[in-house]
Amino acid sequence: MDDSRFGTRNRKGGFEPNERPSYPPVIVWPPRPVGFARWLLGYPGYILGWHLPVFLVALASWRWLTPPMTTMRTLAAGWIALILLRNLAITIVWFGAAHWWLYRRRHQGTRFKFNARWPSTNSELFRFRNQVADNVFWALVSGVPIWTAWEVAGWWLFANHHIPWVSWSAHPVWFVALFLLVPIIRDVHFYAVHRLIHWPPLYRAVHSLHHTNTNVSPWSGLAMHPGEHLAYFSCIAVHWLIPSHPLHALFNGFHAGLMPMPGHAGFAKIEVTDHLAVDTNGYAHYLHHKYFEVNYADGVIPLDRWFGSFHDGSPEAHQRMLRRRRAASMVATNAD
Ligand SMILES: [Zn+2]
Ligand SMILES: [Zn+2]
Repeated sequence: MDDSRFGTRNRKGGFEPNERPSYPPVIVWPPRPVGFARWLLGYPGYILGWHLPVFLVALASWRWLTPPMTTMRTLAAGWIALILLRNLAITIVWFGAAHWWLYRRRHQGTRFKFNARWPSTNSELFRFRNQVADNVFWALVSGVPIWTAWEVAGWWLFANHHIPWVSWSAHPVWFVALFLLVPIIRDVHFYAVHRLIHWPPLYRAVHSLHHTNTNVSPWSGLAMHPGEHLAYFSCIAVHWLIPSHPLHALFNGFHAGLMPMPGHAGFAKIEVTDHLAVDTNGYAHYLHHKYFEVNYADGVIPLDRWFGSFHDGSPEAHQRMLRRRRAASMVATNAD
């Protein structure tokens, strides 16, 4: 596929999409009901994008890969190990497939690739001097076990009826609405956690590990310090406070576990065939890895726009970011 129809190349050969990241017509005035309906139900859109496959993974896991509730009433190594293995296997297949297609097979070369370089294979910044091996290590050794721990705690609470259990038959409208709200809840939660770990002491201690990846690839998505994993996956616990069905909590966990793949793919589009390419929507977060203090969230609610940190890749947004940086350094200098 000819990527020059969709964007340009910067000085270093990286792809810059013509279509800038933007917010969907959800929180807008005047309301745009047609645009909203098209975004909600159209393709590519809110449901018919990455959310549907992630939901189907959660649904299949609930149906076939989750132990019976009676078993999960008591914490025991056997069923916890099964959930850990299920999450490990799904993570390896999901991230591994994208990595294999884009970075091993290099099916589309650097077409649509934001950074023309490939991941480092000899850098002391990374464990094993290898970026991908480092990223896989943090994702599987820290990320999946901590995600599983949050999930297991939720199962135990649901199984023992320590928290409300909303059923489809009793509350069908809320049941469906909450599925649509899960990605938005996650985005607000991620924004809050993410702003917190950009506070310099926490950034140095915790979040700098994730930001070692300036040239991201799929496995970078879950390459985080255990402290960040603990905070990041705490979004699952939202369902201990908001009346939910366990499937909502499971969808939330898979959303947190799997969505970092398209977000860190490093490509604007993944070419499936010569004529079919899937948008990753990863450019805004790629800019976060490039410029650090922009685009903390990545979703429906215009949090970054409200708080002045939105960067859509345009020269105007870039100038705004530079002005903000200068103002911040002046404040820091005056405070010294
Ligand atoms: Zn990231
Ligand atoms: Zn960050």
